[in-house]
Amino acid sequence: MKKILFLALAVLLINTSTSWAWGTTGHRVVAEIAERNLTRKAKKNLKKIIGDQKLAYWSNWPDFIKSDPTWKHADAWHYVNVGTSLTPTDFTKEMNETTADNLYKKTLSLIEELKDKDLSLEKKQVNLYFLIHLIGDAHQPLHVGRAEDLGGNRIGVEWFGQKTNLHTLWDSKLVDFTQYSYTEFSTVLNIHDKKFNNRLSEGELVTWLYESYTAAQHIYDTAKADDKLSYKYYFDHQKDLEDQLLKGGLRLAKILNEIYG
Ligand SMILES: [Zn+2]
Repeated sequence: MKKILFLALAVLLINTSTSWAWGTTGHRVVAEIAERNLTRKAKKNLKKIIGDQKLAYWSNWPDFIKSDPTWKHADAWHYVNVGTSLTPTDFTKEMNETTADNLYKKTLSLIEELKDKDLSLEKKQVNLYFLIHLIGDAHQPLHVGRAEDLGGNRIGVEWFGQKTNLHTLWDSKLVDFTQYSYTEFSTVLNIHDKKFNNRLSEGELVTWLYESYTAAQHIYDTAKADDKLSYKYYFDHQKDLEDQLLKGGLRLAKILNEIYG
C-alpha cells in the first residue's frame, strides 16, 4: 500500500512539475551567438568580470540555482504572463504598469545596475549570468504566454509518441530534435552580414517581448491538447525556432555592446 501511495505521489509530482526555460542547448546557442557578435572592447571588459570563461558556460546557471531555496524569489524573473489579443500599445502599457518582478522589469533593472561601474564584482557576475539567461528566455515565445496554462505547461501533447507539454516542446524538444551541439547550431544560424544583424536587433526589450508574444499566439493556434506531433510540426515551426534563437543572440550582443563597448 505504501508503495502504491509512493508511486501515485511520484506520478503526481512528475505530471505537475513545470519547466520555465529554454533547455540547456537553447540558452547556450543564444549566449554563443552573442559572444560571436561582441565588439573587441566589450569582450575585453567582459573578461574583467568573468575571465576566460564563455558566456555559454554561465547561460544556464539561473536555472540550476532554482534547486537552492534561497533563490526561490528569482523564479518569477524567467517569464511574463500577459492577457490575450493585446495590441502593441496595450502590451507595452501592461508591461510598464506591472509592479511584479517579472522577466521584463527584472531585465531592465539588471541592465541599469550593470551600467554602474561601482557595482561589486560579485554583483556584476550574478547580474550578468541572469542577463545572459533572461534575454534567452525572452525569446522563448511561451515565456510570454498565458497565465491560465502556465505558458503551455498545462497543454499536454505527444512528441514522437512521448508525453510532454507544449512548453517543454519549445524549451528543449524542438532544439534537441535538430541534434546540433550548441556551437554547431550557433554556426549555422550566425551567417548574416552586419546590416542584416543590425536590422534584426532593432527595437528594445518591450518590442522583442511583443514579438515573442505574437509567436506564442501562433504556437497556441497551431497545436491543441493531446495532439500527436512529430516531423510535420518541426517542419512547420523550424523557421520560428531558428529566428528566435538568432534574435536572442544578436540582441544580447547588442545589449552587452551597449554596456561594455
Ligand atoms: Zn529561465
